[in-house]
Amino acid sequence: MSKKCRAEYIWLDGTEPTSLMRSKTKVVDDGAELPLWGFDGSSTNQAPGNQSDCVLKPVYTVDDPIRGDGDKLVLCEVFDTEMKPHPTNTRALLRDVVDKYGHHDCWFGLEQEYTFMKPDGRPLGFPAGGYPHPQGPYYCGVGGSQIYGRDIVEHHFEACLEIGLGVSGINAEVMPGQWEFQIGPLGPLEASDQLTVARWLLCRIAEHYDCDATFEPKPAKGDWNGAGCHTNFSTKEMRESWEAIIAACEALSERSAEHVKYYGHGIEDRLTGHHETQRWDTFSYGVSDRGASIRVPWQVDRDRKGYIEDRRPNANCDPYHVTRLLVDTVCGALEKSKS
Ligand code: ADP
Ligand code: MN
Ligand code: MN
Ligand code: MN
Repeated sequence: MSKKCRAEYIWLDGTEPTSLMRSKTKVVDDGAELPLWGFDGSSTNQAPGNQSDCVLKPVYTVDDPIRGDGDKLVLCEVFDTEMKPHPTNTRALLRDVVDKYGHHDCWFGLEQEYTFMKPDGRPLGFPAGGYPHPQGPYYCGVGGSQIYGRDIVEHHFEACLEIGLGVSGINAEVMPGQWEFQIGPLGPLEASDQLTVARWLLCRIAEHYDCDATFEPKPAKGDWNGAGCHTNFSTKEMRESWEAIIAACEALSERSAEHVKYYGHGIEDRLTGHHETQRWDTFSYGVSDRGASIRVPWQVDRDRKGYIEDRRPNANCDPYHVTRLLVDTVCGALEKSKS
């Protein structure tokens, strides 16, 4: 009998206003091609009960670092039974834009911030009935009174590296219990797929620690930083010229409202103009400016080429929307300026 292994099929559901990750396990023959599979869309906000079948199509597979040898994590796109992309399938929209602008060789570095929540619903590090010491010592801190949840973070970091995800670093964030990992630089589909799998792994691993990892953009009200997903972006031209850097910033200023609409639910509560943000309804860009919508890193100013950081996306953003809009807006403008 051939060896069996477990394939964890992962997909994004239809929950409004922010989709949830779902997964279930299929036992498959070791080494065999991963088949299409289905699920009950009426339980995930993706179909009515009398026509409940939705189709899962594997698009990105990695080793499963939790279960073991031969087991897989399988990220899927969702289709209807006629094999049309489901309305919740935002990856399919990104594929179309990548087909159109692939020759610009876009790279993305996604800075995923997140917060650990305890079963009492408060962030890890927030004492019951009170508040921790104000923000200041926590960002990139060390020591038991600044750092909450490092065991979980290290566990997740190791799991990502073990299966070859392109994580480029981690750090403790400004609010206690808040952390960040970075994915990239990678192409738009690769960065978004890897971010999704890394998010799933984080939530899955946090289960072992009686903790919940949340991507809520403003997990603590008041004088506490929100959680974003700063999106570092470059095209081939931007990596070669300052003019293309400025052209990208100008193109983004033209379509700011449309971008912000797709950058994650609750963005008005996070982009307040305080806590290292620009207001959600205002657009600006500047060198080294963490109060701008777009920051041009100082090295990019020095080298006169490189990449820009879109500081607007929320931690709970859909990376397929964010990367699609950036590719579409910036590559569209770069091409128009040439024609
Ligand atoms: P910050 O200083 O804002 O905290 P980070 O170091 O957390 O920045 O993240 C920067 C991200 O930008 C990293 O993921 C890095 O891989 C990515 N990056 C570097 N160069 C480029 C580039 N040319 N295009 C896109 N992303 C890039
Ligand atoms: Mn960062
Ligand atoms: Mn950060
Ligand atoms: Mn950043």
